[in-house]
Amino acid sequence: MKSRSIEKVTRPATPHFVGDGFRVHNFIPGTSTMQRMDPFIMMDYNSKFIFPPTDKPKGVGVHPHRGFETVTIAYRGRVEHADSSGGGGVIGEGDVQWMTAASGVLHKEFHETEWSKKGGEFQMVQLWVNLPAKDKMSTPGYQAITKSQMAKVDLPDNAGEVEVIAGDYQGNKGPASTFSPVHLYNVRLKKGAKTNLAFPAHYTTAMLMIEGDAKVNDTAEAPQDHFVMFSDDGESFSIEALTDTVILILSGEPLKEPIASHGPFVMNTKEELVEAFQDFNMGKFGYLED
Ligand code: MN
Repeated sequence: MKSRSIEKVTRPATPHFVGDGFRVHNFIPGTSTMQRMDPFIMMDYNSKFIFPPTDKPKGVGVHPHRGFETVTIAYRGRVEHADSSGGGGVIGEGDVQWMTAASGVLHKEFHETEWSKKGGEFQMVQLWVNLPAKDKMSTPGYQAITKSQMAKVDLPDNAGEVEVIAGDYQGNKGPASTFSPVHLYNVRLKKGAKTNLAFPAHYTTAMLMIEGDAKVNDTAEAPQDHFVMFSDDGESFSIEALTDTVILILSGEPLKEPIASHGPFVMNTKEELVEAFQDFNMGKFGYLED
């Protein structure tokens, strides 16, 4: 198997707030472009940040999405969600919410009321996965994926584990259903442990250091909160944990379709974007109370 080289290691950019509840570093498209990161079109990372206690939960009010899926991965803190297609619930620590916006939803995302009253350390990833053109106008959906539902695979020699959210690792499938081939893992490696991962060479592949520091392909330092983007020149790469680590791994087959995006809408053509705004303004995305 040919080894996959590193395209670049990106340090976290200056954070900005999404609403008042998510203090994020943007890695996609910030690191590169939506086209290069295909099928991943957006990734915001709320690195560890302490929110003080409040009776008024922080977050983002009602807003629309069309044409893709939003994937929220909670590492610390709890988020309450509701959308106009009837989806909703709490994303707890270790859980993942996989929302298929597709033809269009309105949703809101806030820190859970009870969690907000105590406040504390918050750490979360939001990833947008593009939908193939043929699926962009399909019915919205919602997958609440708890940590206990994810496949967990122990690595040899007590090195750690691979937790499979989507796709599969050595035949162990994750619970998330996807529209195109996507692998999404949390890899936990103990200090000093080393492992190799492999994906088809043409899959867009990257990793985010959630916890701890690692060395990739024996050469590149990947400190906490850094993003490693791989080239498409081979299948396998190695990770050596310099401390105990948690690493989010993403790899997906590019859709190779035109991308037309504006704010919360990601379509294939400008005409479809105009239509999205019109449909939104006409109330076709349904209704959700503030
Ligand atoms: Mn949203």
